[in-house]
Amino acid sequence: MEPQRSPLLEVKGNIELKRALAKAPSQLPLPGSRLKRGPDQMEEDLEPEKKRTRGLGTKVATSRPRATALTTVPQTQGQTAVPKVPRKTGPRCSTAVATVLKNQKPGPAVPAQKPGTTAAPPVVGRKKPSKRPAWDLKGQLCDLNAELKCCRERTQLLDQENQQLRNQLREAQQQATELGAERRTLEEELARMRAQAEQGQRELGNLSARVLELEERLGTQEGLVQELQKEQLELQEERRGLAARLEEQEGRLQASEAALSGSQAEVASLRQEAAAQAALLAKREERLHGLEMERRRLHNQLQELKGNVRVFCRVRPVLPGESTPPSGFLLFPSGPSGPSDPPTRLSLSRSDERRGTLSGAPAAPTRHDFSFDRVFPPGSGQDEVFEEISMLVQSALDGYPVCIFAYGQTGSGKTFTMEGGPGGDPQVEGLIPRALRHLFSVAQELSGQGWTYSFVASYVEIYNETVRDLLATGTRKGHGGECEIRRAGPGSEELTVTNARYVPVSCEREVEALLHLARQNRAVARTAQNERSSRSHSVFQLQISGEHAGRGLQCAAPLSLVDLAGSERLDPGLALGPGERERLRETQAINSSLSTLGLVIMALSNKESHVPYRNSKLTYLLQNSLGGSAKMLMFVNISPLEENVSESLNSLRFASKVNQCVIGTAQANRK
Ligand code: ADP
Ligand code: MG
Repeated sequence: MEPQRSPLLEVKGNIELKRALAKAPSQLPLPGSRLKRGPDQMEEDLEPEKKRTRGLGTKVATSRPRATALTTVPQTQGQTAVPKVPRKTGPRCSTAVATVLKNQKPGPAVPAQKPGTTAAPPVVGRKKPSKRPAWDLKGQLCDLNAELKCCRERTQLLDQENQQLRNQLREAQQQATELGAERRTLEEELARMRAQAEQGQRELGNLSARVLELEERLGTQEGLVQELQKEQLELQEERRGLAARLEEQEGRLQASEAALSGSQAEVASLRQEAAAQAALLAKREERLHGLEMERRRLHNQLQELKGNVRVFCRVRPVLPGESTPPSGFLLFPSGPSGPSDPPTRLSLSRSDERRGTLSGAPAAPTRHDFSFDRVFPPGSGQDEVFEEISMLVQSALDGYPVCIFAYGQTGSGKTFTMEGGPGGDPQVEGLIPRALRHLFSVAQELSGQGWTYSFVASYVEIYNETVRDLLATGTRKGHGGECEIRRAGPGSEELTVTNARYVPVSCEREVEALLHLARQNRAVARTAQNERSSRSHSVFQLQISGEHAGRGLQCAAPLSLVDLAGSERLDPGLALGPGERERLRETQAINSSLSTLGLVIMALSNKESHVPYRNSKLTYLLQNSLGGSAKMLMFVNISPLEENVSESLNSLRFASKVNQCVIGTAQANRK
């Protein structure tokens, strides 16, 4: 079997065959025609070749597709194809071909081909067949047989080629099928791509519409953008302004911070200073307290030096309508230092009518000289009098009981001195309102040193040894309930008056109201009993309580301001009527209480073991305001009238006795 030849070789072979056939195209019909006349077998062998040649026609060479697969097909179609002759072909066939070639183109002999080429090798070197004579039928037959044999070989070759071509055709068809499939795939892909393209087109259309719409909107928004840009510019401007303000504020803040830190430093230093000041203040307070205590001690010492029982003599002025006393009736000799000294002496002249009568000539007036702690002539004002006793009153705040009496005959000015003159004129205010105002004021000052004071007032009168509340109000007003002097509690030295009002006071107006109420109550009583007030003792008492919470100090003392009943005595020569007898009893009671007062003072001064406090309601009520720890002051009020000279002398003598008393060393009621 012949090995498969490569398409390239086949093409080459075909080209050679074409050349060979082109040289002798007219020679082929001869054997062909002869073949038709040949045996059947030969005809059959040739038949496929003929059919094929006819089927393809002359167009085969030009219309054959140029498919790559087909290029390998050897160009054996047509009758011009020259079969490749294998080397095995017989020498006759080669000879025949050589003969044909020789017949087709006369000229120089075809050069002998190299062994292995497609030319018929058997012919090489052979003698050219000469044209057989007509008669040489046998030879011709032999040639024809050889030619037939050659044709058969060619036919065989062509079959093989045909088979190859079929194979190639199948392959080509297969390839075509594959290509068809591929084409369909590609077409499908193309369709898909087209669909995608259409889709893309549609999307593009949509996008274009969208772009148009957006452009439109852009157009409409451009105005907005411009507005926004304008606004942005404004905002930028504002921002710049704000930044400038911020910068300014920051600058101010820094300045403020610097100032603050400076202030803080200042505050710290001030705090230090304040702490130092507080320490200093505490020190000073301590010192002040020490000084205050020292002041109290010295004050008390001074009062003691002045005497715990002092007597002031006050002479009231001659009132309008009264007969002026003769000159020299009352004299106020100046002190050892001259007129600048406050007067302490009083000289009263009394002309003894009886002595004059006995001798038959007017007797020279007798001078009675008295010396007191202080003498107030008629011109002395209320303020002048109070100034002298203000220090004594202040002792009550230090815890010393203080008692001030007004002693004298009726009309000598006791009530004027203690309560004040008529009309509410501040100039004629008495000792009671002035003393209380002074106490309130000093208590206020002492509150700065930690002292707290409270004041409780009571005002009673003692008439015929009965006690009546002058501050009574409502149903008790005018009549007054039965008041008794009792101890405040079992074992207590403090005395209290039952059924009497004790009114806390803290200001002048309250005191004024109480004094007004007392005057009213006295006026009611006066209508019931004539001139009762002059024959009763009025006792105004103020309970003073002080406390220094910081130092745990307390003090309490009563201040008693007593307007005594008229000290006048009954004229023994007067005839006693029924009314006079009553008056006698009153006078005896008054005299009894006043003499008891004198006795008490005497007993105290003589340091007697028994002090007859209980002998009168007055001394009993004033028990705590007298005694060793108390400071006492007696005003002896004197009438300037000559007609009252006897009573004046009595009063002055009584006062002188009192003035001679020195009652122990006063002690403050301190706890
Ligand atoms: P007593 O209370 O002692 O009975 P009064 O105080 O009632 O005496 O005084 C009698 C009168 O004298 C009153 O009208 C009073 O105003 C007046 N009087 C007393 N002392 C003075 C004085 N120092 N200055 C002016 N008038 C006085
Ligand atoms: Mg009076």
